[in-house]
Amino acid sequence: MANPSLLILPGDGIGPEVMAEVRKIIDWFGAKRGLVFDVSEDLVGGAAYDVHGVPLSDETMAKAQEADAVLLGAVGGPKYDKLDFSVKPERGLLRLRKEMDLFSNLRPAQCFDALADFSSLKKDIIAGLDIMIVRELTSGVYFGEPRGIFTEGNERVGINTQRYTESEIARVARSAFELARRRGNKVCSMEKANVMESGILWREVVQEVHDKEYPDVELSHMYADNGAMQLVRWPKQFDVIVTDNLFGDVLSDCAAMLTGSLGMLPSASLGAPMANGRPKALYEPVHGSAPDIAGQGKANPIACVLSFAMALRYSFDQGNDADRLEKAVEKVLADGVRTADLMQNAGETPVSTSQMGDAIIAA
Ligand code: ATP
Ligand code: MG
Repeated sequence: MANPSLLILPGDGIGPEVMAEVRKIIDWFGAKRGLVFDVSEDLVGGAAYDVHGVPLSDETMAKAQEADAVLLGAVGGPKYDKLDFSVKPERGLLRLRKEMDLFSNLRPAQCFDALADFSSLKKDIIAGLDIMIVRELTSGVYFGEPRGIFTEGNERVGINTQRYTESEIARVARSAFELARRRGNKVCSMEKANVMESGILWREVVQEVHDKEYPDVELSHMYADNGAMQLVRWPKQFDVIVTDNLFGDVLSDCAAMLTGSLGMLPSASLGAPMANGRPKALYEPVHGSAPDIAGQGKANPIACVLSFAMALRYSFDQGNDADRLEKAVEKVLADGVRTADLMQNAGETPVSTSQMGDAIIAA
């Protein structure tokens, strides 16, 4: 059988720096675990614009459609700020998401014990926290028509439309239930069914999908405003949260910050199943290209490493190896290894990006 294929798009800024550490880890898995990937590397974002005049070439797009999984670093940087909107680095990422139809965005918020003091929140609120937010990514108010700024009488009016079809709700709900079965078997769906028609349909369809296909999973519903409050008050009550594009944007950023640095946060964006039964998938750290620290060997590679762990789990069915990698990260943190973004006390000496990568491999 052919090796599983992985397309790596390091991108811009700290993207290539953190990705270099993941490459070392991939080599380790090949050498020590016999887990060999067919890896190819290509350009995205400003790096692609510099060579091809576009932030994502058609050839790269085609490769992404073929790959079992795509792992992306980060795109963008001040050098590209003045470019026309149509060729901005971010458009490369948007094209990937759109053409791969990645409708389910997974953002874990997990607290590593060693960093439980790092957050400004009370330790008992976040210690041991492990939740997953599933955000619908391709529909809703971000895309619904009509949209625009129009003139009505003698004033302007800005219009967006929240629109969800039954099938759009059902597919992201399935993705949340599938995930819950591999975790704590609990889903909380959030909307505003008290004021929004799309919210009423959302609640109905999630419940129907549950009753027909996932009766074994515990399902609850919450209004999103209460959900936001509960997320901050006692986040450990949740396992998987599923919500729409707009609420998911807000709630996942909120959940992410429960646990500390941007340099720690991975994400996955999943689409429909491919011929091998696994979903189309793009994995990337939540952070951006961090131009302020790019090229200095300071970036924390953990978000990118944990994104690869998600790829092991969700695209390559290597849950044990994903656990192995996450445990290594946990151990390194427990040993007090810290990149600069995780420093708490003056006088501590941070490790470099590549020292952090080496420490994870050693662990
Ligand atoms: P973008 O527009 O690409 O999202 P941004 O400036 O909004 O860029 P980031 O690039 O994520 O956001 O950076 C925000 C801040 O977090 C910066 O100060 C950056 O140095 C810091 N940061 C982000 N990622 C990391 C990382 N992996 N390691 C250390 N610091 C990071
Ligand atoms: Mg940003």
